[in-house]
Amino acid sequence: MTNSKSEKYEFQAEVKQVLDIVVHSLYTDKEIFIRELISNASDATEKLRHTQLTEKSILQEDLALSIKVHSDSEKNVISIQDHGIGMTREELVENLGTIAHSGSKAFLKAIQESGEKNENLIGQFGVGFYSVFMVADSVDVYTRSWKTEGEALCWSSDGSGSYEIKEVEEALDRGTKIVIHLKDSYKEFTEKTRLETVINNYSAFIQFPIQVNDEELKTMGALWLKNKKDISDEEYKEFYKFQSKAFDDPQFWLHFNADAPLEINALLFTPTENMEGFGFGRMEPGVSLYCKKVLIDEEPKNLIPEWLRFLRGVVDSSDLPLNISRESMQDSTLVQKLNKVLTKRYLKQLEEKANKEPEAYDAFWKRFGIFLKEGVTSDFTHREQLLNLLRFESTYTKEGETTSLSDYLSRAHDNQKEIYFLFGANRNAIEKSPYLEAFSTRKIEVLLTYEPIDEFVINHARSFKENNFVSADSAEIDLESISKADEPEGEALDPESEKALCEYLKETLSDIKEVSTSTRLINSPAMIVNSDKMMTAQMKKMMKAMQKTDGLADEASSIQLEVNSKHPLIKNLANLYKSDSELSELIARQILDTAKISAGLIEDPSSLVERNYKIMEKLSTKASN
Ligand code: ADP
Ligand code: MG
Repeated sequence: MTNSKSEKYEFQAEVKQVLDIVVHSLYTDKEIFIRELISNASDATEKLRHTQLTEKSILQEDLALSIKVHSDSEKNVISIQDHGIGMTREELVENLGTIAHSGSKAFLKAIQESGEKNENLIGQFGVGFYSVFMVADSVDVYTRSWKTEGEALCWSSDGSGSYEIKEVEEALDRGTKIVIHLKDSYKEFTEKTRLETVINNYSAFIQFPIQVNDEELKTMGALWLKNKKDISDEEYKEFYKFQSKAFDDPQFWLHFNADAPLEINALLFTPTENMEGFGFGRMEPGVSLYCKKVLIDEEPKNLIPEWLRFLRGVVDSSDLPLNISRESMQDSTLVQKLNKVLTKRYLKQLEEKANKEPEAYDAFWKRFGIFLKEGVTSDFTHREQLLNLLRFESTYTKEGETTSLSDYLSRAHDNQKEIYFLFGANRNAIEKSPYLEAFSTRKIEVLLTYEPIDEFVINHARSFKENNFVSADSAEIDLESISKADEPEGEALDPESEKALCEYLKETLSDIKEVSTSTRLINSPAMIVNSDKMMTAQMKKMMKAMQKTDGLADEASSIQLEVNSKHPLIKNLANLYKSDSELSELIARQILDTAKISAGLIEDPSSLVERNYKIMEKLSTKASN
């Protein structure tokens, strides 16, 4: 080969980093480089098929789309050739000289995060094209772009700091041929049977014929078009990993075919791991759109709702116009229809899971429940269905166990028309709160919510099967009409003293709206109740932080205090304010602030602490006199 116009380039720093790790790795499953190169060949061929739909002049338009693997054990060389889109000079530099692509980027990130050269990561992330340098002394990439004006080029490198691109004189077929000069110790990869085993393992789902030394391999092809009966669980799992470039097993999958109103063949996988939960950032939608086995769009935007972005898989509809452009596809009514059908079917699968395999559903809920909650807040169309799928801990469940809203209602009292919930930092904090007292003595169940999104969820839902959600700290709850409480022990103040005490408190604690005696408190002396049934104190705080308080009454002036007139502290206070106004004022303020703590309303405890010392000082002076 004559080398006119040979140019030398340096790899980008990040590429050098990846190459350094790959070349010196002791990772044992070197064979993954075959998976990576065949997957690239397949990607390039898919892209060519797609380009054919929109472009008129394509080099060697009629060239058959297959992938050819050749080995030469004498020369210790293997080659992998495709007739895909190929690469121009700029593309060679961009694609093979820099890291802009998915696999290697994720690999680098994971390496940086784990802080060590974790060799297993190579297998997990593949490292794409560069993995070839695990086994190669040098690599030549012959390539010719589909663009008719393109040059025939050869990219070469030994995987150290630089690479070379030269023009090739002889005519090349469209596409790319990767020639791998194997290190002596990897001669095994030139054996035909070895190659076939590896390819069958990794590349069984390639949509194009694969030939190894001119003999065609049997591949799985478009799994989603096959009959369910003929597909094993193993094949589904392998397909998931292959198609979604995933590292986990699918938790479950949905394979369905429909003819009307639309022709749909879909295979939707629910992963095991929630990658957003791992801090990988917001997921992109991962269900690819095909028309008659031709990939139309790998990550179409509107095919599934945002809140189902964790789903992976394939949707094939022959009703799609083949030459649809990606832009017009985003808002095509057909895609919207597909979206509707897919969402409905998937939610139905979840419902069935929840009913028939509650444990499996629980496992799903733990990792992906957050997405369904997002759905409740953002997707009005599916809200009813989604509400059925929500799970919460409650005062009737054990820690870590959950209930559905329907089950909650099935346990509700006959007269109970509301669904009670209470928000708090964790189960322990909520269980000790004064708000639950009235509910537990009346055996009324309360849902326990811990995550900030829960409040938005409940706020958006407002009701479930015509039962309103009501926060357990709200002022207007009439629990007595639902279920009678056991009469709490101890005698209450007489009505006159109650009234006088409430007036005294209202006056002393001038910045609150109302003081009344409580019918709900059992063991605690006082609590703050909330005038908005669905707006918890936490929610108010959040709204305030987001400066959305317009229209909400000022926090202080909306506070309503309820006191327990059977509680010794309250009873004592009814006398104390007549004899020692200074101490009783301190105690009154302390009662209010302590109730604020239970309501989650205290952000700065300093004045409470200071007052506490003052009270102790007064009491100890009294006692020691
Ligand atoms: P990824 O496949 O995740 O993008 P790779 O390292 O495997 O990363 O490949 C890098 C890029 O090189 C690809 O995105 C593609 O643009 C280009 N490329 C690799 N192999 C081929 C090929 N056979 N034909 C055309 N382009 C290719
Ligand atoms: Mg790749």
